Amino acid sequence: MTLHIPTLLIVSVFIFCVMGLLTLHAWSRETRERPLAYLGSMMLLVSLGMLLVSLRGLGVDFVPVVLGNIALLLGAAMNWTAMRVLAGRAPWLPGILAGVVTWLILCLVPAFMESLSARVTAYSLLTVAYGSATVLEFWRSQRSLEVSYLPAFLLTLLHTVFYCIRAVYDTGLGQDQALAGAGKGTSFFSFMLFEAMVYVIGIAYMTLAMVKERAELRFKAAAYSDALTGIGNRRAFMSRSEQLLESCKRRGTVVALLLCDLDHFKRLNDTFGHAVGDQALIAFSRVMSRTLHKLDVFGRIGGEEFACLLESDEAAAVDVAERIRLEFAALPLLEPGLLSVSIGVVTTRENGHDLSRLLSLADEALYGAKGKGRNRVEVAPGSAAAWLMEDQG
Ligand code: GH3
Ligand code: MG
Ligand code: MG
Repeated sequence: MTLHIPTLLIVSVFIFCVMGLLTLHAWSRETRERPLAYLGSMMLLVSLGMLLVSLRGLGVDFVPVVLGNIALLLGAAMNWTAMRVLAGRAPWLPGILAGVVTWLILCLVPAFMESLSARVTAYSLLTVAYGSATVLEFWRSQRSLEVSYLPAFLLTLLHTVFYCIRAVYDTGLGQDQALAGAGKGTSFFSFMLFEAMVYVIGIAYMTLAMVKERAELRFKAAAYSDALTGIGNRRAFMSRSEQLLESCKRRGTVVALLLCDLDHFKRLNDTFGHAVGDQALIAFSRVMSRTLHKLDVFGRIGGEEFACLLESDEAAAVDVAERIRLEFAALPLLEPGLLSVSIGVVTTRENGHDLSRLLSLADEALYGAKGKGRNRVEVAPGSAAAWLMEDQG
């Protein structure tokens, strides 16, 4: 079955135009999503290019052969740029113009203008170049692209392979034959239009999905991080802690909770100003990040309150808490003695794996540390180390 070429052309031109305008509208509502601007431009350029190229055979070769193909090549460049920007790189103007400039130079050669098969080969090779560049953008960014890029990668790869085949086998089809649907190569021509439609609609849909997925990931990351210190906030701490506790309960391992509260923070704010207080909070979060391991869960759970959950026994947890306390007190941000933290420690060994119970026991221990003069680590009553500490005290 051969698809009806004039119908395919008209449908493509209209669909690409409408989709391009809708994509640009979506971009105007969300101007930070620049890939949408390039994607919309790509569809409008491809729509224009197909319209101009189909004017072939009306006597003026300049419009279809030169302008039509320039619009199509710019469309391919915009498609590449959309993926490049999505992958976090800046648009590259020389690359965008390279296809157009090559085409214009070739058009200056009369033999090229006269040979349909040479034009088909050159156009296909330029499309392969842009397709390969697009595939490469995905390949280079596989680690940093947090979104599922595989469908777009595979679709572009197939599109590029198709144009590799076209560069070798297609010798071109005269416009009158194409429109009449007669002659050798009609099936290939109609398939090519069909492929263009599938590719443009497919890549547009996938790019929109990737942009949306990335926006959701960003919102989620923002909802889970503390704006001042950049570490996890209370919501993040609670949800990650529940997961860690659940997994440790299954594996039967001990987890320790450290509840840290900066000492006399109100006084520090009142004496040195809120900005210095903020710096102290940031400095404390850095001390925690430095001291804790990658698998430990920690976050800022309140104004000057931080918590961490680590898979370790009581002795090791007290050791970590002491290191945090000493490192914070030794920071050169303010004079010695002005920065200090009290820490309450509790483990799951005697108290079970319920997070709210652990938090309340750690809070009691913290309260004890405050009562005993601050700048100290206190273990929740009832645990082995608490007895030991009391004996020594
Ligand atoms: P204690 O040693 O008993 O813990 O006394 P404290 O002054 O640290 O505790 P209190 O709860 O009385 O005061 C906490 C202060 O922390 C009050 C609040 O203004 C300050 N704070 C909370 N969030 C922030 C913040 O984001 N930045 C700054 N600079 N201060 C904050
Ligand atoms: Mg407090
Ligand atoms: Mg405090």
